Amino acid sequence: MAQAKFIKKESLAAWLEELGKQHEVLAPRFEGDSIIFRPYDADKGFFIEREATAPPKKAIFPQSEILMKYSHIKDLENPEKIALDVRENIPDSSWVVFGGRPCDARGFTMFDRVYITDKNVDVYYKARRENTFFITLACEKGESTCFCNWVGSGPSDPTGSDILMVPVENGYYLEAVSDRGEALLTSPLLEDGSAKQAASEKFRADADKTMGEAKDISKSPEKLLEVFDNMDFWEEQSAKCISCGACTYLCPTCYCFNVTDEGDGISGARIRSWDNCMSSMFTMEASGHNPRPTKAHRLKNRVGHKFSYYPDLHDGVISCCGCGRCIKSCPVGVDIRELVLNAIACKPSEEEAAND
Ligand code: SF4
Ligand code: SF4
Repeated sequence: MAQAKFIKKESLAAWLEELGKQHEVLAPRFEGDSIIFRPYDADKGFFIEREATAPPKKAIFPQSEILMKYSHIKDLENPEKIALDVRENIPDSSWVVFGGRPCDARGFTMFDRVYITDKNVDVYYKARRENTFFITLACEKGESTCFCNWVGSGPSDPTGSDILMVPVENGYYLEAVSDRGEALLTSPLLEDGSAKQAASEKFRADADKTMGEAKDISKSPEKLLEVFDNMDFWEEQSAKCISCGACTYLCPTCYCFNVTDEGDGISGARIRSWDNCMSSMFTMEASGHNPRPTKAHRLKNRVGHKFSYYPDLHDGVISCCGCGRCIKSCPVGVDIRELVLNAIACKPSEEEAAND
């Protein structure tokens, strides 16, 4: 069995201080009405009683990052000769993400299949991923918007975490999920956890029981392809969407980006920033043509990507961890669960049936 420890609730802050001596620690705390992951600050504390408003995605995939800096260097002996100096900006820090939820940690595994493959490696992503440790807090109960159990997960799923923290009386049972997680469990603040194992298992089993019925969405990949050309369906589903993009920016599994060069002509930086497939500009081509000209096309892509195209490419894995943030944050109440279930239930039109 993996190593297990126990930490008293009142020792958590001291543990974060200790971890902060070797790593940059990100922990959630209130900012206004939102719970956001920020560099841990003992004076501001942390808040882990509820899922954070925004996931800790920026730890491995910052909202905006400099990929490289460049400058043109003129040869004064030969003014026509200009050399280009390029300096890559590979991150070299190490981070601990404390207090994310199992859906957040599992969400990072969706990135891994895209950014670290046999054929392509995103060196910026890899550097962060390999130097980021996830200390994840198991959930006590599912919220009304949670559906991690629909996508093969659950409130204490350890996938993607290095340490799973399970609340038990007066503190937390800490289970090492990975070898590197085990290596983090060396603090003198931690006690042997074996006496708390039974309480941890009970907590996890009780949490599983709080999840609502898991709907069968195993047919979503083919069903979403079946409704691909049914724009009446997508117009109806997207009617209330206002294209604000909140659902994508707060999604732990959305990984699209844009790259821009920003400089003064002589020197500058290449910057990668999050992009948003719900924006009308996302697929706008230089000619002015846009292959996804309406919000119906764009919502179709968002849902289709997560529940059909990604699983088709990645052994059936659905690229949604069921965190429910897009449901909570949508100002007009678009619910991705309903979209998927509606697509599964959608019958082909008479014309489509006749063409089959
Ligand atoms: S699509 Fe929605 S429920 Fe799924 S991971 Fe993204 S924010 Fe969470
Ligand atoms: S959050 Fe809601 S309104 Fe905004 S883009 Fe997403 S689905 Fe549309």
